[in-house]
Amino acid sequence: MTLAVIEPATERVMAEVPRAGIEETDAAVAAAKAAFPAWRAVAPGDRSALLRHLAEALEAEAEDLARLEARNAGKPISDARGEIAMVVECFRYYAAAPERLLGQTIPVTGGVDMTFHEPLGVVGLITPWNFPLVIASWKVAPALAAGNTVVLKPAELTPLTSIELERIGLDAGLPEGVLNVVAGPGSVCGKRLVEHPDVAKIAFTGSTEVGRTIAAGAAQTIKRVTLELGGKSANVVFADADLAAAAAPSAVFGNAGQDCCARSRILVERAGMDEFMAEFERQVKSIRVGDPLAEETEMGPLISAAQRTAVASYAPDGAPVAFRGEAPEGPGFWLAPTVLAPVSNSDRAAAEEIFGPIACVIEFEGEEEAARLANDTIYGLSGSIWTRDGAKALRMARAVETGVISINSNSSVRVSTPFGGFKQSGVGRELGPGALEHYTDVKNVYYAT
Ligand code: NAP
Ligand code: MG
Repeated sequence: MTLAVIEPATERVMAEVPRAGIEETDAAVAAAKAAFPAWRAVAPGDRSALLRHLAEALEAEAEDLARLEARNAGKPISDARGEIAMVVECFRYYAAAPERLLGQTIPVTGGVDMTFHEPLGVVGLITPWNFPLVIASWKVAPALAAGNTVVLKPAELTPLTSIELERIGLDAGLPEGVLNVVAGPGSVCGKRLVEHPDVAKIAFTGSTEVGRTIAAGAAQTIKRVTLELGGKSANVVFADADLAAAAAPSAVFGNAGQDCCARSRILVERAGMDEFMAEFERQVKSIRVGDPLAEETEMGPLISAAQRTAVASYAPDGAPVAFRGEAPEGPGFWLAPTVLAPVSNSDRAAAEEIFGPIACVIEFEGEEEAARLANDTIYGLSGSIWTRDGAKALRMARAVETGVISINSNSSVRVSTPFGGFKQSGVGRELGPGALEHYTDVKNVYYAT
């Protein structure tokens, strides 16, 4: 059986790869299990060196990987280059971790007490199609650094760069069985990883809906789980802000809105609304939507026909469309960036994660209402606050129930800082110095003296 991989900008098959099922998933788990004892025993400095080699090998192929990702995920080549650069950075960052997995010594009576951060064993990593290789790297790098072996299941729609990662890992000297990739359906291969008794942990990025089934499935074998799920983040714009900067459309239309951190609820203070909307319209209408491989492209197509249909359902005939940008005609899953206003926070488009290029603009009056609206959602992943009043910015940053928030910026993710959600946006954190905790268990050793 093969998996036909579609290029979303052309709707053509760009590759056919073997389609994994239960048997291949079990074989990958068995290979990872067999490789674990030797991998955990590799001296910390040697494990560091191997991860640094892997970072270098990825860097050497960065342009090819970026082009492959741009074509398969339909994202602008400039974005894809940035993502592959982050993949390299992520492996470099965690390459330093094996020698820094420090335990504690704890004063006790009658002996010496010490803690160790032990690897978990085989970990199952399940990733989405929107940022395929970069999200894989956030999981693979700390998992391997901590001494685990891994089975990575990429999304069926975008398996190509993960398959390349497996090859590059072997070429860079990772022992056989340490990093295994199974490209197959989530309902088959993903589900099998969640149920498999030899998998100690699942790290998942994807929808809140699938996240719920993973948490329930993992409970059967008390697997550790990290869940990075959906979002409906607020972009809170006060009237005293730099409104031109606050209206940067990449906040919601980056990756064609298929971004868990998309600031898709834009809350604007009444006194700044007219100026904000004029600026936002000018900027949205100038977004260059087109061929992902063209250097000037700022937004590509959506990932699939099904995704486009689902997204378009949030702006049906009669929806309050304030303005739209442009989109190419012809083959490709194109959808023009669309701004809905005025919208109430309880409208379907404002309540549900759209995961496409449709933004809602919602008016507020004052700090208290802004915080109330920002928090009136099941999600809590990301967000931004725009104001020139520093104290107000910090009060708001503390008041908004979210795992990640930026002041006068739309950035959400950095290799060296923690990333993850509050509420139904997930559990656990990725990236930053704390990620290793999620790939280890603490062992306490008492030595009677
Ligand atoms: P998805 O449908 O939840 O799929 C995510 C992954 O889970 C895919 O690899 C999928 O495989 C697999 N899967 C599906 N059903 C499964 C099951 N029953 N058991 C185990 N695995 C299963 O999400 P998506 O549509 O790919 O991505 C969009 C979602 O991801 C959005 O909700 C977005 O917010 C979220 N996301 C979150 C973050 C974050 O860091 N918080 C980052 C990016 C995206 P197949 O695709 O092969 O079916
Ligand atoms: Mg899906």
